[in-house]
Amino acid sequence: MALIVQKYGGSSVKDPAHIKNVARRIVRTKRKKNKVVVVVSALGDTTDILLDLAEQITHDPSNREMDMLLSTGEQVSVSLLTMAIHELGERAVSFTGYQVGIVTDTSHTNARIVDVNTKKLSNALKKNSIVIVAGFQGKTIDEEITTLGRGGSDLTAVALAAALKAKRCEIYTDVDGVFTTDPRIEKQAQKIDTLSYEEMLELASLGAQIMQSRSIEVADKYNVPIYVCNSKNEKPGTLITREVKKMEKVLVRGIALNRNEAKITVFGVPDRPGIAATIFKILAERNINVDMIIQNKTVSNRTDISFTIMKSELRKALPIVKKAAHKVKAKNILIDENIAKLSVVGIGMRSHTGVAFKLFSALAEKKINIDMISTSEIKISCIIASKKARQAVQAIHKKFNLNKKNKD
Ligand code: ADP
Ligand code: ASP
Ligand code: MG
Repeated sequence: MALIVQKYGGSSVKDPAHIKNVARRIVRTKRKKNKVVVVVSALGDTTDILLDLAEQITHDPSNREMDMLLSTGEQVSVSLLTMAIHELGERAVSFTGYQVGIVTDTSHTNARIVDVNTKKLSNALKKNSIVIVAGFQGKTIDEEITTLGRGGSDLTAVALAAALKAKRCEIYTDVDGVFTTDPRIEKQAQKIDTLSYEEMLELASLGAQIMQSRSIEVADKYNVPIYVCNSKNEKPGTLITREVKKMEKVLVRGIALNRNEAKITVFGVPDRPGIAATIFKILAERNINVDMIIQNKTVSNRTDISFTIMKSELRKALPIVKKAAHKVKAKNILIDENIAKLSVVGIGMRSHTGVAFKLFSALAEKKINIDMISTSEIKISCIIASKKARQAVQAIHKKFNLNKKNKD
């Protein structure tokens, strides 16, 4: 008898009809003589609605109270889903993250899992019950409720699969698997059959919403195979596993787009040692995460430094950047929220050259200007104007032949 962990995202349980559909799938898996543990997200857009409610009360909520609020979403879905399974005549029991004993650190709203207690789950499984666990939440050792960051139900599912040594972790969503790019942006995007953890991690952290990036880190660490597929059909999905040799043959595996960053430029900074350190030290002290950085030498003894941060941190970052700019005697600062980060990812880049050239020429052919560039072993990212982002993704998708199914 195999143990399978399944996770159903918000889009798969957005209303009673969807919840009943999910219940049927779970019962089918159970009746094929499997032990089933299910992780479920909040219904539809519930988390966004809760965030919006908080925003209408305050721009600066306490993170602890945010967790008290956000964790309620998943409690609604676990109970409804369990009732739907009961209606189908199967045993099922729901638990919150707190009840299961998903222990996290104290970083409210973005907590990390430090331990998973399997006792309650194992006891319920022994009683031949399906176990439904609320995703996205845990508790600290002081019994405070925490949440695991947006998309955190993926992390709950992978962590449970690792702790229970499940055969695999199945992620059910509203598309057929991981595609070469977001199918909402490029209609010709192709489903990828197999993908390495490393590639999925890059795609996810560069903006592909389909999987939470931290869940992939945990899957990689504990070697949990992940299977991403559609909760509404039976089509084969995408298997995410350790790298196998043939994966290297594919130059670019996918394209990710992230519209959640903003660019800050500090103009007329004196060009001498220690200036960048001063600016970024002040930002680091206030826990503002900086992504891309660019600095150019100019003819005068002054230079400009541009960097990107999350748009959601702009409000907090601005006074800090102003203070830093004043400290280093910069002339001015400028904010640009209309940017997008576009990235191409593929482990084949390690062994092949010419990816940057191909990427830049696709953008040049469409007269799209590149603002910033950063690279790593298996990815190249560019900052471009947000209004050109869709066109850019489509041009690059075509340039790298991603419109055609890759037979790997
Ligand atoms: P869930 O509600 O199941 O957690 P999400 O909305 O978090 O689902 O993620 C699924 C969405 O991710 C898809 O509807 C799709 O538009 C988007 N997406 C972005 N990039 C990709 C990609 N490379 N492959 C597949 N889907 C992607
Ligand atoms: N409900 C949470 C969110 O929307 C967690 C999740 O869906 O994975 O981010
Ligand atoms: Mg998700």
